[in-house]
Amino acid sequence: MVQAVVAVGGNVGDVRQTFRRAQTLVGQNDAVFTVRAAELYRSVAMGAEAGDSFLNSAWVLETSLDAVQLLDLLQRAENELGRTREVRWGPRTLDLDLIFYGGEQIDSPRLTVPHPHCFYRQFVLAPVASLIPEFLHPVFGLTIRQLYDWISRTPLPVGFGGDPANSITLSSITREFPRVDLRRVDPAIDPALEEVSLALWFGSSDPKPASPFWLHVSAEDELQFFRDVLTAACTELETVVDDVDELSESLQE
Ligand code: AMP
Repeated sequence: MVQAVVAVGGNVGDVRQTFRRAQTLVGQNDAVFTVRAAELYRSVAMGAEAGDSFLNSAWVLETSLDAVQLLDLLQRAENELGRTREVRWGPRTLDLDLIFYGGEQIDSPRLTVPHPHCFYRQFVLAPVASLIPEFLHPVFGLTIRQLYDWISRTPLPVGFGGDPANSITLSSITREFPRVDLRRVDPAIDPALEEVSLALWFGSSDPKPASPFWLHVSAEDELQFFRDVLTAACTELETVVDDVDELSESLQE
């Protein structure tokens, strides 16, 4: 039996209802034993064409499925609940990402676990931290709580290296994120030890940095990627009151 962690998101249709149906669908599988869901969080949509704000949550589940079988199950739930995939990071009814599969590290054509973009995304870290704050990220060796604190710092030190195609536009994008303190750092360093919360490597010039804290940015979409990473790292999340009774109680207070 393995403890797996799934990030849940969506911004089209009745998203709460979709999340509930997805949880039921996944929970009905004979090899899935418990599914614990986090509260709902609201975040700004990431990606130029992503549409309305997103609702996010996370599940912690116990399963005897292997990682690929679990991914199959998640993808079946996405398809059944009408996910549209026309645009990368576009509007979607349901997005289920496998974030952790126990303490395993998997790098196959279909599956990368831990999810390589989980460690700087507030909308993943906040719900996961609410469920399992002490869980240790198997690559970074930091707990979810530590990663969340690490990305919530003010100012937020972000390193970059390599050859951005357009460094002037990079710095103008940075101005959209007052919390970010952007600085050039050496590829040889481990960003964690240099005290930057994340680091981006632009272009393909060598030496490429080895630490998993470095995100590799391709030339074609570097500005969009850069903006998306900063949005995911900087956007403060709201907790969404899920229950109508709870909502009326909070309005009466
Ligand atoms: P997306 O449309 O962004 O959700 O990406 C889905 C694609 O990413 C699928 O083709 C998956 O095979 C692949 N993938 C790789 N690693 C993961 C992961 N940890 N969780 C979900 N999908 C993954």
